[in-house]
Amino acid sequence: MRKTKVDYIIIGQGLAGSWLAREMIERDLTIAVINNDKSETSSKKAAGIYNPITGRKMIKTWRADQLFPSLERDYASLEKLTSSKFLHPLPIYRPFKSIEDQNDWEGKFTDASYESFVEEMKVKSLGLKNIQDDLGGIIINQSGYIDLPVMLQSVQNFLISKGVYHSEVFDHRRMTLGPNSVIYKDFEAEKVIFCEGSMPDNPYWELPFKPVRGEIIDIACDLESTYIINQGVFMIPKEGRFTVGSTYDHNNLSYVPQASGIKSLENRLKKLFLGQYRIIGQRAGVRPATHDRKPYIGLHHKYKTLGIFNGFGTKGVSLTPYFAKHFVDVLQGKSEIEEEVNVQRVN
Ligand SMILES: Cc1cc2nc3c(=O)[nH]c(=O)nc-3n(C[C@H](O)[C@H](O)[C@H](O)COP(=O)(O)OP(=O)(O)OC[C@H]3O[C@@H](n4cnc5c(N)ncnc54)[C@H](O)[C@@H]3O)c2cc1C
Repeated sequence: MRKTKVDYIIIGQGLAGSWLAREMIERDLTIAVINNDKSETSSKKAAGIYNPITGRKMIKTWRADQLFPSLERDYASLEKLTSSKFLHPLPIYRPFKSIEDQNDWEGKFTDASYESFVEEMKVKSLGLKNIQDDLGGIIINQSGYIDLPVMLQSVQNFLISKGVYHSEVFDHRRMTLGPNSVIYKDFEAEKVIFCEGSMPDNPYWELPFKPVRGEIIDIACDLESTYIINQGVFMIPKEGRFTVGSTYDHNNLSYVPQASGIKSLENRLKKLFLGQYRIIGQRAGVRPATHDRKPYIGLHHKYKTLGIFNGFGTKGVSLTPYFAKHFVDVLQGKSEIEEEVNVQRVN
């Protein structure tokens, strides 16, 4: 039987597969996307925040200067392409923990390299009801969140309208690898690119993933905020409720929310927010994190017709648009793969 020829088969349509598909279509490459459309995926459980200044030490996140200038533009253009709305730019308010923290920020606030990411420094409370911020805090910009379930569904509808989406589990055993192409069922592709997210059951890659489970809760409370508030936990304002997260657990990689995780989240929430609240939803997911916290991107060391675009860990929202462009540049021979993200660093 004649095969349908495509340039690439993409396995998985989470954040990674969605951005890769969009970039390939943009460049007139032919694709087939094969996705197991289950609810337990990292992208469907994530909070969706993009934030250029992160971590306990509140420093610029890895590659912030490269990633953030085009980030909102990329999501806005994906919204336009899919006739949908999922980009929610919002400043992040991060209260100071101590006088030392405040002093530290006096220095960083005047540091030119932080200028584009820090909008304002407050040395008094913002006055948000029941929020603990006696010492003020910093207001971060180029930040916000992506409503990921809406984005994923919109991209899926777009791929369906193009006739390239296939809802099924990819069976690795049914793939035949040739020197210049791969046969899979009715398809013949130049390459197959795996975007399978956490815990991939893939016999071709043995990579030192370090997956991390996280819990998130939704709460109803008497608070109004036009900021994402972030100290110990984040609180994302969403139409009368707040999404609060999240936890980090390398041991129990279950998609079932754990009582211990919810408790730890609530303990931290109570230090930031002193008001009453009611939990109206909870969920857990597993982040596809890696041994060195950098993604795994590139071609297989032995089978040049296989590639991977995975390992986006805690920062899939901000990393995938930029690295999808980079990877397609590499696949088209326009660029060399950046060593820091090259999957072959682990061989
Ligand atoms: C609790 C939590 C909070 C998070 N918060 C944030 C946040 O605020 N900001 C941020 O940037 N990131 C956040 N993340 C991380 C973010 O979710 C990930 O970086 C990102 O979603 C990874 O996307 P992915 O496409 O690689 O994987 P996934 O979203 O898991 O997608 C993989 C897809 O591949 C499919 N698949 C797998 N195997 C097969 C197969 N054999 N055949 C067919 N299909 C297959 C799966 O069904 C799935 O649809 C969070 C994650 C969690 C769990």
